[in-house]
Amino acid sequence: MSRIAYVAGQYLPHRQAAVHIEDRGFQFADGVYEVISVVDGHLVDEALHLARLHRSLAELRIAAPMGDTALKVVLREVVRRNDVDTGIVYLQVTRGAASREHAFPKSAKPTLVVTSRRTKPPDPRLGEEGIAVITIPDIRWQRCDIKSVALIPNVLGKQQAREAGAYEAWQVDRDGQITEGTSTNAWIVTVDGTVVTRAADTAILNGVTRLAIFDIIRREGYRLVERPFTVEEAKAAREAFLTSTTADLLPVVRIDGSPVGEGRPGPLGQKLRAAYFAHAAAVA
Ligand code: PLP
Repeated sequence: MSRIAYVAGQYLPHRQAAVHIEDRGFQFADGVYEVISVVDGHLVDEALHLARLHRSLAELRIAAPMGDTALKVVLREVVRRNDVDTGIVYLQVTRGAASREHAFPKSAKPTLVVTSRRTKPPDPRLGEEGIAVITIPDIRWQRCDIKSVALIPNVLGKQQAREAGAYEAWQVDRDGQITEGTSTNAWIVTVDGTVVTRAADTAILNGVTRLAIFDIIRREGYRLVERPFTVEEAKAAREAFLTSTTADLLPVVRIDGSPVGEGRPGPLGQKLRAAYFAHAAAVA
């Protein structure tokens, strides 16, 4: 079955799906995106993803390509046409195609691209045994709260992690505080059992998975503090983990080669992970 994409008003096989060579997404990375999980054919936490999409668009002063009711129809139609039961749906909105000039074009129509694909369930060993992260300097811009398609520092960081045999790279700001991973949010559990993650300032993306975990933590009555933490504090933590739409929640058991806690997934992270899977299945 050939994969189908939605591009600027049409559902097309991937081979034929294309954007203009002067699309500002291609020229300037002048666009934003969302990745939404599909579980049992349903979109997980769609409302939170659409709220963040609107926030990103507003911050960049890009018009919405269509209303939410129509957008939800397109998202579902792309999922359906690709026969995705478990996987992801990706959407990207750019400022549109226009003759190349930095300032906003007077009349460009935003480009909307939607794709969807099945994904294999993540290797269960990652959840059972945990993953390693490295730390790298955060070289990104000062508006990481916007889900911009300008991802080259994230691409380089993830590649560095892969080459070091690690799953993710945690980025560290000039004050020595961890901001987030290249495509995930970063968390620790302190020795007194408090869950800590950075507040959603302009240095991180406010992850939808992060917000879902907040709800679980509140419901279960665990202690949560939103504050930055250093690499040293993370290495000395009782537990660490990361979250994202595609990684769900994964325990971090090594940071730059040093074991976190006993070097095994900790109990609180594992409880949150199980609760997150239940949440994703229930809201889907
Ligand atoms: N931080 C960054 C830089 C990301 O790119 C992502 C996801 O792509 C996240 C955090 C996690 O966000 P979410 O939970 O919405 O997938």
